[in-house]
Amino acid sequence: MTVSVPRYAVIGHPIAHSLSPQIHQIFAERTGIQLSYERLLAPRDDFAGVASAFFEDAGQGLNVTLPFKEVAHAWVAHHAGYAARAGAVNTIAIDPVSGPPRGAPVLVGHNTDGPGLLRDLSRLLPLAGARILVLGAGGAVRGVLEPILERQPGQVVLCNRTASRADALAADFADHRLQACALVDLSGPFDLVVNGTAASLSGDLLPIATDLVQGAWCYDMAYTRDGAAATAFCQWAAASGAAGVSDGLGMLVEQAALAFEIWHGQLPETHGIVARLRNALTDPAPNPTSGEHPDG
Ligand code: NDP
Repeated sequence: MTVSVPRYAVIGHPIAHSLSPQIHQIFAERTGIQLSYERLLAPRDDFAGVASAFFEDAGQGLNVTLPFKEVAHAWVAHHAGYAARAGAVNTIAIDPVSGPPRGAPVLVGHNTDGPGLLRDLSRLLPLAGARILVLGAGGAVRGVLEPILERQPGQVVLCNRTASRADALAADFADHRLQACALVDLSGPFDLVVNGTAASLSGDLLPIATDLVQGAWCYDMAYTRDGAAATAFCQWAAASGAAGVSDGLGMLVEQAALAFEIWHGQLPETHGIVARLRNALTDPAPNPTSGEHPDG
């Protein structure tokens, strides 16, 4: 008799770069849970077709990466946790009370990016009372604002290249601790600077003054595909007097752990996985200078 292993996947475009299969296999080893985890390449205009076929073919859970997080939010029947406010879904699970014999499975969308970042950040510094600068106003930043505000920071300043997007995002949250600010009006000091822009993916530096990061912990949500190289933002912040720098590899592992918990009911131990991935990325090093879609 053939025993089928439960099927999971990450869907995106492109997808070949994704580290999610390695991460979920490590979790499977650590928890003793058997699973298969594959990469699904969907055409940019057909997320729904590929995702539907996956669940019709016994798929049990999907991670969603660029550029489909907003599309996935609209596609699922229900939202849980941070997904509703984030307007983006990175994890899809089957509602356990749905499905045969009652009928078709009901799909629930979650967003573990924000709490994943917070799990990584909480190892670095306390957020209660902290003065935080968040750079960017795209999907990733939308997903992290609610969990950051829950940690009772003293102040969160939101700044984006296109200022109107930061204004609109801050207005959506309507929280007195969160203020949008134009790049030219930024003034510190900050305890934490989170780069949630995609600038590091193209090696671009943000036009901000060095005194904004002096003495602050600087966190880039991006990471490089060369485990030995720092992102452009991390390099710049370290050279500008930051108290410390981190890239988004820890966030990637932690968001995956939370997705794993949603699917399997067990939160896997994440200790040592970032170092293991960095070693794997360092040798071989396919593209030492590019940030190359580090999400997913
Ligand atoms: P989006 O495309 O939704 O948003 C991109 C943001 O970056 C916008 O605010 C945009 O500004 C800004 N931006 C892009 N290029 C530049 C530039 N050259 N200079 C200044 N600002 C720029 O992307 P996401 O929000 O989904 O992703 C943002 C980053 O977070 C990416 O690096 C992504 O890889 C990373 N990420 C990492 C994860 C992890 O697990 N580590 C998870 C999710 C995301 P504007 O509005 O002006 O265009």
